[in-house]
Amino acid sequence: MGFPLLKCVKCGGEAVVNLKPYGLVLCNEHFTEFYEKKVKEFIIKNKLIKPKEKVSVAVSGGKDSLACLIALDNLSNELNFQLTAYHINLEIGKFSKQSQKTVREATKKLDVPLEITDLKKETGFTLPELIKINRRPPCSVCGTVKRYLMNKVPRELGNEKLATGHNLDDILEFTVKNFLNNNFFWLSKLKPLLPSVNSKVLTKIKPLFERTEKENAVYVLSKGFNLPHLTCPFSRSSEWKEIIAKIEEWKPGFKLRFIKSFQKINFPVEKLNYKRCRICGELSSSEICSFCRVTRKQTGNLQELKNRK
Ligand SMILES: [Zn+2]
Ligand SMILES: [Zn+2]
Repeated sequence: MGFPLLKCVKCGGEAVVNLKPYGLVLCNEHFTEFYEKKVKEFIIKNKLIKPKEKVSVAVSGGKDSLACLIALDNLSNELNFQLTAYHINLEIGKFSKQSQKTVREATKKLDVPLEITDLKKETGFTLPELIKINRRPPCSVCGTVKRYLMNKVPRELGNEKLATGHNLDDILEFTVKNFLNNNFFWLSKLKPLLPSVNSKVLTKIKPLFERTEKENAVYVLSKGFNLPHLTCPFSRSSEWKEIIAKIEEWKPGFKLRFIKSFQKINFPVEKLNYKRCRICGELSSSEICSFCRVTRKQTGNLQELKNRK
């Protein structure tokens, strides 16, 4: 990495990143300072974390969640909150092994307590097995499983908030796709802070809402951590991301300005009639929650059901 012709605008040292929207070319040290200041200001401005709160950060092992873990750890003393990490082992072969290793190493280095859920132990199935038996798109099965466990396990461990590493690029792509599909329900939920609606639901926060993929990757490296080299075998390239990247190239700052303006729109929040899932007792919009359906709990573990009653 490095731009041999570019010098840091703050100190004249060797630059590692050119942040066009901000008109800033920065070295390692000054980029880290810039990034951490931005994350801190965002947390304070959006009241994401209150003093003495227990925050769990969901760490998949990818660059964004690692950046979120490192940045929150860096702020935990100053903003006075307790940080723990949560990882789900989806058991997608080599990819999951490497992800777990990355997460273990990073949390050990930072001395952040880590909780891991093994999907196979929890449900009897690995993610590839669940995808096969459900005949649904991989990311939809994965999303169902992750959303459920990330809400349940950290909450049962006494956390008040769940932080995720969603970045500006993901958020923008999601916004455009859902807007074009009239899907205002999901857009109404896409906020830096999504307050809990019920004691069974954790408050969700997205501290990296305005940070790009690139910034997150540079931040992880500049803090001396390794970036994972395997990507999820189920992930597909996104046309929308490419299109948005092209616009950003022509109009630097487009992504950030778009999402900042978009956030000012208040989409009508649909009032869903929440029930308790008949099988697991978690909050659900139908009789049986999507996690229990996907993991075949409604047909499979009947014995377990009887034991619970
Ligand atoms: Zn510098
Ligand atoms: Zn359920």
